[in-house]
Amino acid sequence: MSTTLTIALTKGRILDETLPLLAAANIHPLENMEKSRKLVFETNRADVRLLLLRGADVPTYVQFGAADMGISGKDTLMENGAEGLYEPLDLGIARCKLMTAGVKGKETPAGRIRVATKYVNVAKQYYASLGRQIDVIKLYGAMELAPIMNLADEIVDIVDTGNTLRANGLESREFIADISSRLIVNKASMKMKHKSIQAIIDPIANVISKQAVNV
Ligand code: AMP
Repeated sequence: MSTTLTIALTKGRILDETLPLLAAANIHPLENMEKSRKLVFETNRADVRLLLLRGADVPTYVQFGAADMGISGKDTLMENGAEGLYEPLDLGIARCKLMTAGVKGKETPAGRIRVATKYVNVAKQYYASLGRQIDVIKLYGAMELAPIMNLADEIVDIVDTGNTLRANGLESREFIADISSRLIVNKASMKMKHKSIQAIIDPIANVISKQAVNV
């Protein structure tokens, strides 16, 4: 195993909140990750490089050891399963909720229903836990449209303010889980590169615990 540490990150709003945490561990990308088209970034530290991936691919890279560590939403981890990785830190960023939702004021029919979502596994597990039978319809985006167009009776999606649901005539129904970004570590890397990984986890944990006190 090489001594380089590879950390998998996701573009967008979460990156803005992630970089200050990495900075606390003395990890600074050498160029602007938002602006560049690159996927691999060198840092101020010769032993650390960063990958920029689609959020849903971060756990896969870490599970297979193509990245030693990563930052991933709990929603993605719940959907993909967390085999082969540890989840040592809740970063407390990108908080939202996984919810079911349906058309406002329209009752969901009894019996078997159609549920549209990109969280196929989460939806199956959740409705099964209630003893309710569903047909899952896999979508890749704009889940809110599905109940309006009668493609589905309900959706499973992440909700923050609820504005997107309201703007599309939907209402949230049942709470499934609280979501936030998590630091994840490949299990083998945690053993083989324990010292250098722990040296990244500790200062980040320190920043988070200070933030928690200030909330
Ligand atoms: P809302 O504030 O409920 O209108 O959220 C609007 C949309 O933003 C949701 O449907 C999600 O697709 C997305 N969203 C909200 N919070 C998050 C988050 N923490 N991570 C990723 N996507 C989010």
